[in-house]
Amino acid sequence: MKQEISFIPREQLKPKPDPASLGFGKYFSDYMFAMDYHSDLGWFDPRITPYEPLTLDPSAMVFHYGQAIFEGMKAYKTKDGSIQLFRPEKNMKRLNESCERLCIPQIDEDFLLEGIKELIMTEKDWVPSGEGTSLYIRPFIFSTEPYLGVRPAKQYKLLVILSPSGAYYGSQLSPVKIYVEEQFVRAVIGGVGHVKTAGNYAASLKAQEKADAGGYAQILWLDAKENKYVEEVGSMNIFFKINGEVVTPRLNGSILPGVTRDSVIQLLKHWNIPVREEKISIEEVFAAHKRGELEEVFGAGTAAVISPVGELTWKDQSIVINNNHIGQLSQDIYDEMTGIQLGKKEDPFNWTVKVASVEA
Ligand SMILES: *Cc1c(COP(=O)(O)O)cnc(C)c1O
Repeated sequence: MKQEISFIPREQLKPKPDPASLGFGKYFSDYMFAMDYHSDLGWFDPRITPYEPLTLDPSAMVFHYGQAIFEGMKAYKTKDGSIQLFRPEKNMKRLNESCERLCIPQIDEDFLLEGIKELIMTEKDWVPSGEGTSLYIRPFIFSTEPYLGVRPAKQYKLLVILSPSGAYYGSQLSPVKIYVEEQFVRAVIGGVGHVKTAGNYAASLKAQEKADAGGYAQILWLDAKENKYVEEVGSMNIFFKINGEVVTPRLNGSILPGVTRDSVIQLLKHWNIPVREEKISIEEVFAAHKRGELEEVFGAGTAAVISPVGELTWKDQSIVINNNHIGQLSQDIYDEMTGIQLGKKEDPFNWTVKVASVEA
């Protein structure tokens, strides 16, 4: 069933923020995409509507039982002024995987992507064009049914909001300090760690607070059962370059399957650089450092693309990686990925998708 996307205009547009001080997640555009679900109707009333506060019942189930999932992706302005997305179909697919795990009804992936493109076309003036900037896209779904009692809700809302964002780093990639968490865990096998649900982040805040207090940018999570194997970083997957080979933890059911992670693996294979997805313990990482073989460590996720790790602290040991400098491979991957995203480099993988206006 093909539904019409309606347009509800707003009276006044907002002033655009200063492109030099965008930061991340601070500004939101004039419009959002919205759609509702009712068990009697399915998903209905897709619309582009003013970005504004919502009215929700205090008993809306999301507040009590936490059925809330999200996605994160970006739109980029290329030098010829066109706007493009990076592998958006992967985000649509993962959104449905998150829905499935949390008993939220499936969405039509193609239809939602068309809706997102239409929203971006409406908001094309909100896509920043400065070096390293992009339009962050946040689709999310939550339960709205007014009811107390634990079961999947019968009513939901899907929204897509847009936030112009600045360069994650200044003009250069800068290595971060990371703390290996031992007391708290992020996710367990059989749980919800492999999907993007709000609750995963709620569960991570306590450890992040601890890391912040110690002067660390992020946490490196270990597996919940043995507290031994590396899982991932806050909102990024993690890669280690050891003696010329790249290793990243194998997807095990508690690690989030990042689109950036998958792209890095494909890129490395394309470059004939050995890359393995396997279980890797934190002991092995520190032992590799001791042997002088730990060449680079980097995180990979949509927000930062590539985030070099300059220092790792585990228990009472701290190691400095590559003299706290960006490794050559980290830099090469960053340049290639951002080059493809911005349309400055060839896209042999067909990862980019042009945002065109949608015919009715
Ligand atoms: C979103 C996310 C990532 C990165 O995924 P990308 O698709 O590359 O942005 C990694 N870990 C967690 C926990 C995440 O929520």
